Amino acid sequence: MMSEKDEALQNNKQLPLERGASSLLTEGYDHPNDGSYPSVSTSPTPSEGELLVKYPLWGKSTPSLDDIHLKAVLFDMDGVLFDSMPYHADAWVTSMAKYGLPMTREVAFMNEGRTGMSTINLIYQQVYGKDASKELIDEIYQDKCNEFAKHPDPERMPGAWELLTKLKATGITPVLVTGSGQHTLFARFDRDYPGMFERDKMVTAYDVRFGKPNPEPYLMGLKKAGVAPNEAVVIENAPIGVQAGVAAGIFTIAVNTGPLKDSVLLDAGANLLYPSMQTLCDGWEALAEKLK
Ligand code: CA
Repeated sequence: MMSEKDEALQNNKQLPLERGASSLLTEGYDHPNDGSYPSVSTSPTPSEGELLVKYPLWGKSTPSLDDIHLKAVLFDMDGVLFDSMPYHADAWVTSMAKYGLPMTREVAFMNEGRTGMSTINLIYQQVYGKDASKELIDEIYQDKCNEFAKHPDPERMPGAWELLTKLKATGITPVLVTGSGQHTLFARFDRDYPGMFERDKMVTAYDVRFGKPNPEPYLMGLKKAGVAPNEAVVIENAPIGVQAGVAAGIFTIAVNTGPLKDSVLLDAGANLLYPSMQTLCDGWEALAEKLK
């Protein structure tokens, strides 16, 4: 029987190799999830283990491993540094339902990484066939934030601190690239990741005009780090975040820390996929050898 890994590889071979930057670099590109994604499955992530899948390096828009001279690692936040996505998904489902906007947990995970405003409008458009008013969007987003705040503070994702420690020890700069604009964000980093991220190496909702999947957040991350695309890698857990990293021309590593199928992240263009942050951390030395 074909394993999920083989199946993903098999499927990928049949995909057109045109996931490149050209189609994604359009300014204002903000609503690409038009149903073209494969349907979402809640099947569990594959068993923990070594590196799961290494795709042929298509080499069109992202550098090959051999061309990377690693100086910075660009980290997404939710689902990568913090185990916060289950709480976000709960908050989305609860809040949207109050406004008659049906949203499943799967849809929440598929749209992870979008700005809140964009997510609300996307669902609203699907239901009503028109844009939501700014007032309504603001109201729903505030409610979603309130629902999220009812949960305990998210824990650090297992393996993330250890990976950051390894990077710092080898002189590699960690950069945060998140679409989040939570006012408690910096305080959370001071508490949970003290000394790991310099304030001027953090990209948040306030730094960019366009959220993921637009490449702007990751391009801003490169700029803040002062590095070229082939001097960085992106670590992402969401298909839209992967699209953003790839569109920025950066080698993008997916960590499948949620309920989506591996194929969703790979189809979004991930260059490598690990089943967790812990396995990425455990395999870091081997990978870093190839990124010199
Ligand atoms: Ca994320």
